[in-house]
Amino acid sequence: MKEKDMFSLAGKRALITGGGTGIGFAIASCFVRQQAEVIIVGRREEILREACKELGPQANYVCCDIAALAGLPELVSGIEQRFGPLDVLVNNAGIHLKKDMLDVTDEEFERVIRTNETAVFALTREVGRRMVERKKGVVIMISSMASQYGIPKVMAYTAAKSAVEGMTRAMAVELSPSGVRVNCIAPGFIATKMSAGAMNSDPQRKAKAMGRTPMGYFGDPEDVGMAAAFLASDAAKYITGVVLPVDGGNAVGF
Ligand code: NDP
Repeated sequence: MKEKDMFSLAGKRALITGGGTGIGFAIASCFVRQQAEVIIVGRREEILREACKELGPQANYVCCDIAALAGLPELVSGIEQRFGPLDVLVNNAGIHLKKDMLDVTDEEFERVIRTNETAVFALTREVGRRMVERKKGVVIMISSMASQYGIPKVMAYTAAKSAVEGMTRAMAVELSPSGVRVNCIAPGFIATKMSAGAMNSDPQRKAKAMGRTPMGYFGDPEDVGMAAAFLASDAAKYITGVVLPVDGGNAVGF
C-alpha cells in the first residue's frame, strides 16, 4: 500500500455519536473528506438532518438517545442491517454539568455518568462484539482535560471522563488481540457551544484556561477531527490504548 493510502478512510464505515454538532460534526466532516461513510447519532432529528445535508451523500443519521441503554443493541443491529458492518465507532456524545460539587445531587451525577460513561461502555460492548467477530475495528473515545488534571465544578463530568480514559486502556488490552484498536482523544479547550456555555459566563475561568494553553488560543473542532481521522486510519495500525491530548499544549502548560 502506498503511504498516502494508509491515511485514507475509503471503504470504512463509521458510527459517530453526537455527530450533528461541534466536535462530533467536525469528526464526521474530516472522515467524509477522507472518503469514509458516516452514520451520525443524536437526539435531535432536525440537527442531524441538517448536518447530513452539509456532509453530503456519504452521511446518514439515526435519531437515538444513547442514555436509553436498553435500546443500544437494537440501535447497532439496525445500523448494521441498514448500512453494513461498522469499521469505526467514535464515542463523542457527551453532556456537561458545571456546578459546585457540594450542590450536585445524586440524580444529576448519575445523569452525567449514564451518558458520558455507561452509554460509552454499553455501546462499545455492542459494536465491539461485532468487530471482534470480524477480527477488525477501531474505537475512538473522547475524554477531556478534566481527566488530566483537577478542574473545579465539573465533578460528575470529571468522574465520567476519567473512567473513559481507564476504559480505553482496559478495552485496548482486552480487544487488541482480536484485531480491535481502542484509543482516546483528550481535547483541550475547543471552541464549541458546549465550551462557550462553560466559559463565556465565567471570564476568570476562560482566562485561566487560556493562561495555561501555550499555543494561546482555543482549538478548532477540526483539530480533533483530523486526529480522529488519523487514529481511525490504517496509518495508526500499531497504535492502541493511548490517550492523545489535542490541546495546544494545555496538559503540559505551566
Ligand atoms: P456539543 O454539545 O456540541 O456535542 C454533544 C453532542 O452529543 C451533541 O450532538 C448532542 O446531540 C449529543 N448527545 C448528547 N447527549 C446525547 C444522548 N443522550 N444521546 C445521543 N446523543 C447525545 O459539545 P462538543 O462538541 O463540545 O463535545 C463533544 C465531545 O467532546 C463531548 O464528549 C465533550 O465532553 C468533549 N469535549 C469537548 C471539549 C470542548 O472544549 N468543546 C473539551 C473536552 C471534551 P443531541 O443534544 O441532539 O442529543
